[in-house]
Amino acid sequence: MKYEGVVIRPPSEADSLILQVTVGCSHNKCIFCPAYKAKRFRIKSFDEIKEDIDEASIHAQHLRRVFLADGDALIIPQQRLLEIINYLNAKLPKLRRIGIYGNAKSILKKSIEQLKELKKNKLSFIYLGIESGDEVTLKNIHKGITYEKMVEAAQRVKEASIKLSVTVLLGVAGTERSTIHAKETARILTDIQPDYIGALTLMIPPEAPLYSMVEEGKFELPSPFELLQELRIMIAESDLHNCLFFSNHASNYLPIKARLPRDKNSSLKLIDEVLSSGDETLLKPEYLRAL
Ligand code: SF4
Repeated sequence: MKYEGVVIRPPSEADSLILQVTVGCSHNKCIFCPAYKAKRFRIKSFDEIKEDIDEASIHAQHLRRVFLADGDALIIPQQRLLEIINYLNAKLPKLRRIGIYGNAKSILKKSIEQLKELKKNKLSFIYLGIESGDEVTLKNIHKGITYEKMVEAAQRVKEASIKLSVTVLLGVAGTERSTIHAKETARILTDIQPDYIGALTLMIPPEAPLYSMVEEGKFELPSPFELLQELRIMIAESDLHNCLFFSNHASNYLPIKARLPRDKNSSLKLIDEVLSSGDETLLKPEYLRAL
């Protein structure tokens, strides 16, 4: 398989073949995101992709799951994307599920019928980075999308019966808007009703444009306990009907895996115990945190 640069995938795609169909991210402006800043966005040619699929079909006929990278592979025009997916299905007879990253703008470029067509051809998971429900924060981080458009995009995915997995980002609003970020994120999660939610904690490596804002004193990251408070608000104030909620990403201070609403009270109890103890040894040590 030929990969250009570092390739990122969601933790839940650990067992999938990662097929790089785009390079970088079509948006690439989010100031907290270091992922693709060194890559110029392009869609790989079908010949390049075909070569990788052919290679996989020789060595891994048993493959059941494929994840299409990079950052925003759903931006690929419908016919080209179908061509890739159809070829995957033809070459990998045991393929059951295809996952893909898609930002809200890319989702909205597809009609419900087009999304349903992708679903019919086994594209069954879309991963969408929401980060925050707070409009001011979305603007500040250059997310390039509004609350309303993200809800519309998410509804379209759900209407096509494609599973929707979203990420939210603890700390992304800084200390200044920490509480409102958490409350508005709880609100957007309620409006969207995702199948899966991953809460990650903001880490700011030097490659992220936000890094220089921290250096200049223009952005302050909340403390670990303030971040935990954000997590508490998101769980307490959202009203989720049937969702798996994870905060067990390597960046988080307190791992939680909860089926909501069933585990809401037990999750809040755990967070409250840690918050009221004020005991930092109950949190993941810094040296174990990573992106
Ligand atoms: S967060 Fe997502 S949309 Fe924003 S730059 Fe990074 S990959 Fe692109």
